[in-house]
Amino acid sequence: MKRDIPAAEALAQILSETPVLGFETVSLGETLGRVLGEDVRSARVLPPADNSAMDGYAVCAADCARASEGAPVWLPVAFDVPAGSADVPRLARGSAARILTGAPLPPGADSVVRQEDTERDGERVAIRAAPEAGVNVRRAGEDVEAGELVLEAGVRIGPAQIGMLASLGRTVVAVHQRPRVAVLSGGDELVEPDGDVAGGRIVSSNSWSIAAQCRELGAEPVYLGIARDAPDEIERRLRAGLSADVIVSSAGVSVGDRDFVRGVLEKLGCRLHFWGVRIRPGFPLAFGRIGEDARGPLVFGLPGNPVSAMMTFEQFVRPALLRMQGARRLHRPLVRAQLAETLRKKPGRMHLVRVTLERDGETVIAHSTGNQSSGVLKSMIRAQGILIFPAEASDLAAGASAMVQVLDADFLAADAPGF
Ligand code: AMP
Ligand code: MG
Repeated sequence: MKRDIPAAEALAQILSETPVLGFETVSLGETLGRVLGEDVRSARVLPPADNSAMDGYAVCAADCARASEGAPVWLPVAFDVPAGSADVPRLARGSAARILTGAPLPPGADSVVRQEDTERDGERVAIRAAPEAGVNVRRAGEDVEAGELVLEAGVRIGPAQIGMLASLGRTVVAVHQRPRVAVLSGGDELVEPDGDVAGGRIVSSNSWSIAAQCRELGAEPVYLGIARDAPDEIERRLRAGLSADVIVSSAGVSVGDRDFVRGVLEKLGCRLHFWGVRIRPGFPLAFGRIGEDARGPLVFGLPGNPVSAMMTFEQFVRPALLRMQGARRLHRPLVRAQLAETLRKKPGRMHLVRVTLERDGETVIAHSTGNQSSGVLKSMIRAQGILIFPAEASDLAAGASAMVQVLDADFLAADAPGF
């Protein structure tokens, strides 16, 4: 087991141990937010035929080349083409067909004159503007061509992807499985939110924030409850998580007298790859994998402090859970931001500074959220970003720039729609 390693090494180690889960088939309506597990090629052409983009008249543009407001061209209306028509007849030169939006363009026609540029008089129509050939026609295949690779495996499925899958006639879709994450909290001082907090007890907030972090990125938490600081209870609860893809336990992995989690994990056949990452908050992070052939669940022993637990989840568990789902992007968006105030620390550990962000013209300005203690959960509530204060640096002067992981792009939000 390695100890006291840099963050980048810890993450690389974790990702090298993280498998991509298999696939499952789900119905189209269940695909929102899932990661597509197959390349989707279209067996169809979309739209399937040339069709009208307007309500108006289908014509051959050459027949109306001289049409103008003052000198309209009169054409006989040969037939009507509503949307959904099949077997549309051929349009003879020198005539027009009444056509509605989405209806197939008759063979022989090459353009659609919009209704506003026409005047109907019984069986005839006056064309008051000369159409350019092809105008107001949506071409067959202008959206999707036959055989085209429309969606690639690894994309996250959103509303537009679902609309496309529907257009292609897909009622079931292969997606990556969602990782099941067993969440364990440990500590004699902990109670559930409706529990009695007399005598200095505190609520196990980690149980809730960690489960929510799992859900937010598409993983499925399975709660193992609160284990008292006793090896046999920790073991009993951890055993219930052995069938999960990942076990995330918080607290009890430090060097305190009652930190039994590491010992129990080892007893359960967990090979710990590292303990201790040179970051703050979150130093006492342990990572390993259970099982002889290392095919069991990945195990993350997170620190107990609420900010440390959330932060180590964010930096190390989140990318692993995304990789398991086959996602392409494992990391948050990054921006370079200018510091509003000077930050100082001792060299040695990378600090993950919770910041609020503000846009000032083209510049993004980062302000510390204030008290950066690992027990101050409010610093996470307010955080729009996590500023990377590199391990070997000892100060970052006001006005200097640093990389910020963007948690919440709300600082870009406007109070007007921009139109
Ligand atoms: P430990 O790692 O057990 O020394 O815990 C470090 C700190 O985190 C202590 O102040 C604990 O009370 C606190 N803590 C541990 N587990 C939780 C939890 N599930 N929810 C909130 N705070 C916790
Ligand atoms: Mg404890």
